[in-house]
Amino acid sequence: MDKTIKKRLIQIVGSKNFRENEPMSRHTSFQIGGPAESFVEVTSLRTLVMVITETRKMGIPSFLLGGGANILVGDKGIAGVVIHNQTAKMSLIGKDRIRAESGAVNAGFASFAARNGLTGAEFLLAIPGTVGSAVRQNCHFRNPQSFSRYFVDFTKVTDCFVLNIVETVEILTPDGQIKTVGRAYLGTDYHQSRLRETGDLVLAATFRLKKTNPKTISDLMRIMLEWRAKREFIDPSTGRVVARPKDPVTGHINIQPQLPSAGCVFSNLPNADNHPAGRLIDLAGLRCYKIGKAMFSPEHANYIVNLGGAKAADVLALINLAKEKVEKQFGLKLREEIVLVGEF
Ligand SMILES: Cc1cc2nc3c(=O)[nH]c(=O)nc-3n(C[C@H](O)[C@H](O)[C@H](O)COP(=O)(O)OP(=O)(O)OC[C@H]3O[C@@H](n4cnc5c(N)ncnc54)[C@H](O)[C@@H]3O)c2cc1C
Repeated sequence: MDKTIKKRLIQIVGSKNFRENEPMSRHTSFQIGGPAESFVEVTSLRTLVMVITETRKMGIPSFLLGGGANILVGDKGIAGVVIHNQTAKMSLIGKDRIRAESGAVNAGFASFAARNGLTGAEFLLAIPGTVGSAVRQNCHFRNPQSFSRYFVDFTKVTDCFVLNIVETVEILTPDGQIKTVGRAYLGTDYHQSRLRETGDLVLAATFRLKKTNPKTISDLMRIMLEWRAKREFIDPSTGRVVARPKDPVTGHINIQPQLPSAGCVFSNLPNADNHPAGRLIDLAGLRCYKIGKAMFSPEHANYIVNLGGAKAADVLALINLAKEKVEKQFGLKLREEIVLVGEF
């Protein structure tokens, strides 16, 4: 990297927070990825805005990294600057609102809400990553409030979306303006907000939640985590242990894989049989299929897991194979939910 640029970045973030050739495998949940040419850690919104503004002025590419839980970084790494967002301040506003900086970790945010007796954010406990990315992607998971319906009819379990609890978002626009926008600006698409198109970066977000008693929140959190990772869990109304349902088409039970991954690789897409992406991959015969050290997980076919030492090229080969097979068998075009970054 050019010496003047390097000097300027160090001036902004301090030498302790600047690194060169930083292996991205250390910063991704996949534990995969070549080096970032430059890597800076930022802990305040002011520094975050300064670094982004300065890199844009100097014409250097930059990539904003949250928790690295939704990206596949190429084996040849990332040119320019990776900005690791570690802004993490959270504050209670009035009785039922929380403002969180974008680098706050989802689970920390859910716990902060719980400590303040606020319900509505429990599902974020189960989603790795940061609040900024959760808003950008409109992250979602099963609504723990709807689990009681599971015992009557599993198809009645609904989803929770981050944008449903967001009130306003502070953004940095591609032309350098800082603005506060409301829900209408963000849109309501499944698994993405409009920010994915506009390129706005999330600086902070304010969430509106509801007051409730601590026992309700801790029950919802427990059932949330059990639902995520266990093959059986406790019906909160009867105390009975209940087995998870099998996929009605493939006969498999899906749980969250424990090996390193980036969550669901593909988005669900509309289709006549209402097959989720994982089921399509399963029906295409790819559950447990391996290339190099990467494999479609035995626990959930929409996850690719790193068996240890996988290359981005292995994962990419699996992605392309799934797209090809699913299109051939079902005429459907799978689209990545994970973000591919850098050179492959
Ligand atoms: C085991 C596992 C389970 C998962 N389960 C779920 C789930 O149930 N539901 C779900 O929705 N997702 C799930 N995911 C995916 C992941 O948790 C989410 O996509 C999460 O939002 C990623 O956050 P991150 O901070 O790690 O983003 P990163 O991976 O760091 O970045 C992802 C993208 O967001 C951009 N970005 C990061 N911060 C900002 C910001 N402040 N402003 C604008 N853009 C930003 C990045 O530039 C990049 O393009 C799972 C992932 C794993 C590993």
